[in-house]
Amino acid sequence: MSTLEVQAIACGYGDLRVVTDATLSVDAGSVTALLGRNGAGKTTTLRAIAGLNRITSGRATLDGADLATMPAYRRARAGIAYVQEGKRIFRSRTVEENLLLGTYAASSTTRGRELMGEMYERFPLLAERRKLRAAQLSGGQQQMLAIAQALIADPRVLLLDEPSAGLAPAIVGQVLDVIRDLRTRGLAVLLVEQAVEFALAAADRVVVLNLGRTVHSGHATDTGLREAIQRAYMAED
Ligand code: ATP
Repeated sequence: MSTLEVQAIACGYGDLRVVTDATLSVDAGSVTALLGRNGAGKTTTLRAIAGLNRITSGRATLDGADLATMPAYRRARAGIAYVQEGKRIFRSRTVEENLLLGTYAASSTTRGRELMGEMYERFPLLAERRKLRAAQLSGGQQQMLAIAQALIADPRVLLLDEPSAGLAPAIVGQVLDVIRDLRTRGLAVLLVEQAVEFALAAADRVVVLNLGRTVHSGHATDTGLREAIQRAYMAED
């Protein structure tokens, strides 16, 4: 059984059903990329897994436990962390303050401090800049801070929405390295990306969403994957 299993879920905003049939899975120590063109429902799917949108049908489980009945804060406690697109960090606060906020979700204050130390080891750039306001960081460093803030809660599943968006090409490689490192540390990573090449470089499995439905699911090296991606990106509404 995969760490995160999503089976034929539907979700949306109020009466608007944006996603009608999304199916995907993410194993521990692996990266699943969720691809699809603008408006396909990728962000909506992540929000539904995180508990920010209601799952109206289908089933989503974390290690077998049904997510639909858990409010967002319980899903966070159960090990799901969500890094939203656009780096939801507090720009007027320092790097250290942003990380401290993340420690509130840790199991204890001691564990929170340990995790904070670990983050500074893993992201030396953030350690050097701990007293700077987040607004003073580059785009790539802010993305690292957003990821570090999510990791400090010691999650088992990390939902990453477009981590490469808006970053200079030179920095994109660093974000890719971070994602690969998370995989080797046993995290289950679900990555939403517009940048297909970035996603394919990071992912073990790829799920293609079109008009709110999973239209392809397979290994990142499968023959036929690129054709499926192309079809979904060119499909008519
Ligand atoms: P993108 O890369 O553009 O974010 P996406 O695949 O992540 O694409 P979603 O953000 O999930 O797509 O949006 C899917 C659809 O849901 C779009 O048609 C969008 O207009 C609609 N939508 C998104 N957010 C809301 C909202 N808060 N209220 C109502 N409809 C929304």
